[in-house]
Amino acid sequence: MTHTDSRPAAERPEVSNIEIVSHYFDLAAERLGLRDDVADVLRSSYREVRVQIPVTLGDGRIHTFFGYRVQHNGARGPYKGGMRFHPEVDLDEVRALAQLMTWKTAIAGIPFGGAKGGVNCPAYSLEPGELQKIARSLMDKIDKVLGPTRDIPAPDVGTNAQTMAWLMDEYGKLHGHTPAIVTGKPIALEGSHGREAATGRGLIYMLREAAPQMGLSAADTRIVIQGFGNVGSWAGRIGAQLGCTIVGVSNVDGAIRNDGGIDIDSLVRHLEREGGLIGEFPGADAISPDELLEVPCDVFLPAALGGMIHQHNAHLLDCRMLLEGANSPTTPAADDILADKGVHIVPDVMANAGGVVASYFEWVQNLQHFRWDEREVNDRLGTIMRRAYRDVAARADEKGTSLRVAAYELGIERVLEAARTRGYIN
Ligand code: NAD
Repeated sequence: MTHTDSRPAAERPEVSNIEIVSHYFDLAAERLGLRDDVADVLRSSYREVRVQIPVTLGDGRIHTFFGYRVQHNGARGPYKGGMRFHPEVDLDEVRALAQLMTWKTAIAGIPFGGAKGGVNCPAYSLEPGELQKIARSLMDKIDKVLGPTRDIPAPDVGTNAQTMAWLMDEYGKLHGHTPAIVTGKPIALEGSHGREAATGRGLIYMLREAAPQMGLSAADTRIVIQGFGNVGSWAGRIGAQLGCTIVGVSNVDGAIRNDGGIDIDSLVRHLEREGGLIGEFPGADAISPDELLEVPCDVFLPAALGGMIHQHNAHLLDCRMLLEGANSPTTPAADDILADKGVHIVPDVMANAGGVVASYFEWVQNLQHFRWDEREVNDRLGTIMRRAYRDVAARADEKGTSLRVAAYELGIERVLEAARTRGYIN
């Protein structure tokens, strides 16, 4: 049996991740005046691997999944990017996400290239033992293209620190104990303090940079969060600690609203309890996913999947800032609609870089067999996120463009400079 998209057709994005990333790349390439042959090199992937993962699941049947690893560009350093376990994973989606990683690591100024991978399995409905089989089988089949100075995976949708532990263990059986082969590991297995929360924390650092430009005080903002997994829940928790009011939250099961503020710690506990459905959370009213878009707020924070804000629903958003926690959450048509409404968009390619920045710190610690404390990780993360925001905002001001266009331009220029200096591109 082959698994496909779990969402009903009406809910699937009309514009794919690859169309979104390609659109923004082409726009930046044209503005930068890149030659066509140079743009072709930067647009395409260095290596694309697809492997078969037949796994016998609890129902006794063999389920044939497919695993992917795409290495987009390694001019600035080893390939780096997450592993996604989700039914929608396919080569095009992974290609898009890998390319996004190339620009993201360049914008953040960390010495990595871009990669992404995953398996088209329904992670949310599988048992831990089944997920372990899939993770180990994936590593057995792609280990030769990975390595601590070659390509270093990390968690993404449907994977977490436990998945990284299985991947590290399997790689260790083949090559000897190598903690720097993956990041986002559990603390007990040479993971880094602060990594799990880092993407969410990085988003709040971005909010703190962006808010004053709009006459907002970050601590007084009302936030709506679409998708309450690793990224969304940590952004919510850290935002609430800063004083922000979280007025709406959704996940794959439903959505809730409370204009007086949702108690995020209680919500996390509620969801952790077995069968805790979001719509049954006692501290808020259950609403539909579309109604969530209309909840008035200062900041709308998408933290689920790509293409969820599109031309048919972007007009519903009632926010002043779109802080993109998810990768490619906004289609180009939606981006235009929001820009016309005067919404300040802090794009994925800079806003959600906190995870890969903390992954960089984890990798550095693993290579040195040394551990930093959480304060050091968070402080260094803040320094890099602030620098990224300021670099991009300065360019956007100077050139009169959006942050997204400025971010892509900056990322592409940095990769191009590295590729030219190595002699890959003339
Ligand atoms: P996750 O699997 O931990 O969480 C995903 C969340 O989205 C879950 O709460 C799920 O219920 C929800 N969701 C799924 N479909 C939904 C729908 N149709 N409507 C509303 N909610 C829905 O994944 P994550 O690691 O938090 O990643 C979320 C996004 O952030 C992805 O786009 C990912 O690529 C991006 N991202 C993650 C990291 C990271 O460090 N984990 C870093 C950068 C970017």
